[in-house]
Amino acid sequence: MFGAKHILPKGNPPLESAYDAVLIGGGLHNLATAWFLAKEHNMNRVAVLEKNYIGYGGAGRNTAIVRANQRTQKNIPLYKEALDLWPVLTRELDFNLMFYNCGNLNLLHSEAAVKAARTNIATAKFLGVESHLLDAAETAKRVPALNLSQKITHPIHGAMYHPPGGIVRHDAVVWGLAKGAAEKGVHIHQQTEALGIATKNGRVTGVKTPAGTIYTPRVLVSAGGYTAGLLYHMLKIKMPISVLTIQAMVTQPLKPLLDHVVSSGAYHVYANQTLKGEIATGAHMDPWPNYTTQTTAGYIKHQAEALVELMPCLAGVKFMRSWAGLADMTPDMAPIMDGNDPVEGVYMNCGWGYFGFKSCSATGRYMARFLATGKCPDRLKPFALARFKNHRLMGETAALVNYTPDN
Ligand SMILES: Cc1cc2nc3c(=O)[nH]c(=O)nc-3n(C[C@H](O)[C@H](O)[C@H](O)COP(=O)(O)OP(=O)(O)OC[C@H]3O[C@@H](n4cnc5c(N)ncnc54)[C@H](O)[C@@H]3O)c2cc1C
Repeated sequence: MFGAKHILPKGNPPLESAYDAVLIGGGLHNLATAWFLAKEHNMNRVAVLEKNYIGYGGAGRNTAIVRANQRTQKNIPLYKEALDLWPVLTRELDFNLMFYNCGNLNLLHSEAAVKAARTNIATAKFLGVESHLLDAAETAKRVPALNLSQKITHPIHGAMYHPPGGIVRHDAVVWGLAKGAAEKGVHIHQQTEALGIATKNGRVTGVKTPAGTIYTPRVLVSAGGYTAGLLYHMLKIKMPISVLTIQAMVTQPLKPLLDHVVSSGAYHVYANQTLKGEIATGAHMDPWPNYTTQTTAGYIKHQAEALVELMPCLAGVKFMRSWAGLADMTPDMAPIMDGNDPVEGVYMNCGWGYFGFKSCSATGRYMARFLATGKCPDRLKPFALARFKNHRLMGETAALVNYTPDN
């Protein structure tokens, strides 16, 4: 990711003393917001502040899965818009984001899971998202490597098949958005930490950095796993967010054997084969909150055992690399997108857990509209922070409990 510097048109721009908007965090959501602010709102006096290098956070660590088959009526349209945007962004950014439309298969391991999947499929179809129920034989036809034996821990009863999903190359998204935004005049400041937010009479006035205060009427905090800590440290806003580690790994490259993204809630595993031939795999996040990006032997063992039981042909294959990143989880597993409350001019976009890659294209666009107009777009209204105070949680958790461990 250090190589990202060369794709920015003029290297590091000078840090100016004032901008129309300052975005804290050089991850997916802020880079997308910066692109849409410049492109759709003609707002390019914008600074993105990144403490390390762009893509340092979840942006450069995720397993790149995109799909729109979430669970609730409020979430699905947002993810559908995001999915539809990848080909559009590839064209508009003139940057190959490597969208590989291989489709997603969520394996179902019990009759209860099949029943729950029927509800999800009906909701998805109602909202215009393609999703089908496959029986065990149809599932095996799509992924012949799967173990269809009844003698495994969780026999496969079928799958929920979502053809429009797939994989997008995550670092290409970071580079493409950064290049596009920078070409339109946005200043991307790497190695520039936001230290504090200055306010006066309930309004934001600037952002404190090691090089002094930048004056601005708008600040968007979208710093992945660091957002809740920053909002508390800078403004004493308490966020209902826990930060947990998610781990992932890739095997040595193999001949093609897996044409879809396959995930299994019962086995706590998901996998796909990258264009290089590696099996990229991950699972649920670690069960306790922490801020480490360390991987663990126990996790590697679990992945190996689950993968080999599901796809016995993987026995003996070697893992080449493993890594970890932070997930910012809300109690209802839906994000928080809000602004002007409790501080006028301060916006937040966080709580994405392991859904923040697939969504960033659409939310970047909506957050840009929010910042440019000061009015919350209707699509974002259900995601306000106040829903936790008002007991209006979103029920997206069930999307995971029922069938989906993946990202
Ligand atoms: C292993 C793993 C697998 C995943 N798989 C998927 C997947 O398949 N699909 C999916 O949709 N999502 C997935 N995710 C989740 C996804 O990566 C995140 O939700 C997403 O990256 C969040 O984007 P962001 O822009 O909010 O934050 P990030 O991309 O995390 O960026 C935040 C940035 O803020 C910077 N920062 C922090 N503090 C400061 C400061 N004080 N000043 C300036 N900058 C600061 C950090 O350095 C960082 O670069 C996965 C995550 C992990 C870790």
